[in-house]
Amino acid sequence: MTQTTGGIVFGALIRAAIVVPLAWWARSWLDYQLWWLVGAALVYGGVIHPAIVQYRRFREEVEPLRTGTLCASCAHFDETAALCMKYDEHPTLDYVPCGGRDWEPASEGTYEDYDEYDY
Ligand code: SF4
Repeated sequence: MTQTTGGIVFGALIRAAIVVPLAWWARSWLDYQLWWLVGAALVYGGVIHPAIVQYRRFREEVEPLRTGTLCASCAHFDETAALCMKYDEHPTLDYVPCGGRDWEPASEGTYEDYDEYDY
C-alpha cells in the first residue's frame, strides 16, 4: 500500500500551508473579485482535488483488502483506513499483523465461517 489516509490528510495540510499564503499574497496583485476566483481555484486545484484523487486511488488499492482477507472480517479492522486498530498497522494481502491470533468476528460470524482464509 503506497498511501494511507493519514498520509493523504498530511499531504493536504502541507499543500494548504503553501497554497493559502500564496493565495493571500496574490491579494495585493489582483482585483478583489478576481482574487476570490483565483483563491478558490488555487485551494481547489492545489489542495482539495489532489486529496480527492489520492483518496480514490487509496480506495482502489484497499478494495481487495476489504473483501478478501482475514482482517476484512475482524472486529479490529477499520475499513475506512484499512488499518488494524489493535496493532496500529496496515495489513496487506500477504501480511496479517497478528498472524491470525487476535482475530475476532466483526459481526455474527463464527470461526468456522472463516476457515477458507489462509493466514
Ligand atoms: S487483530 Fe489480526 S485479524 Fe484482526 S485486524 Fe488486526 S491483524 Fe487483522
